[in-house]
Amino acid sequence: MNATEQGRPLRVALSKGRIFNETLPLFEAAGIVPTEDPEKSRKLIIPSNVPDVEFLIVRASDVPTYVQYAGADIGVVGKDVLMEHGGEGLVEPIDLNIARCKLMVAGFPDTDLESRSRFRVATKFTECARRHFAAKGRQVTIIKLYGSMELAPLVGLSDLIVDVVDTGSTLRANGLVPLEHISDVSSRLIVNRASMKVRHTRIHEILNQLSKAVPLT
Ligand code: AMP
Repeated sequence: MNATEQGRPLRVALSKGRIFNETLPLFEAAGIVPTEDPEKSRKLIIPSNVPDVEFLIVRASDVPTYVQYAGADIGVVGKDVLMEHGGEGLVEPIDLNIARCKLMVAGFPDTDLESRSRFRVATKFTECARRHFAAKGRQVTIIKLYGSMELAPLVGLSDLIVDVVDTGSTLRANGLVPLEHISDVSSRLIVNRASMKVRHTRIHEILNQLSKAVPLT
């Protein structure tokens, strides 16, 4: 990292919606407040009230990539997305304990997971699904989707889905049930490995303040 880069503000990559809304109070507790609402602004770089921190608004699945390649120094990302990315080049110092949900295998209530030799599984979490079914010794064909996984079993595209579940009402509304738990999910603070060393003092100050504001379970 050169002198110019060290002089620029620290960049925090976040996705809009639930993660942004639940992360905001934590950064507020650290004295850092975005100057604009990303739901109302078209800006992708949003300054904060302090000159040395700015927010980048990116798609949730792109947050680890921005942080890995130092487009951002810090990111906030769901454990589901982080597991899918693999975590290369990243440090994961804090579980922020927000945006909690579970990564689950789901399907029709009468599904007998032991009875069949092969299942078709629709998911956007292809790596997590592959690892889960390999560990269980089950043969699967993974079908990559980008959204509305719950639709796939309803139209015969797949036997099962792997998706994040919060209340379970989306599954229920579509006649599906959770069948297997893969992982508990919450949002994690991630830091670029090089930034963690080069901008150590300010990043540690922010990490300490955020840690104190993390909600208890
Ligand atoms: P629910 O009906 O409450 O189980 O929520 C299910 C849908 O909400 C899923 O299809 C997910 O796309 C989304 N969802 C729930 N919790 C989260 C989360 N923490 N992060 C991202 N998406 C979530």
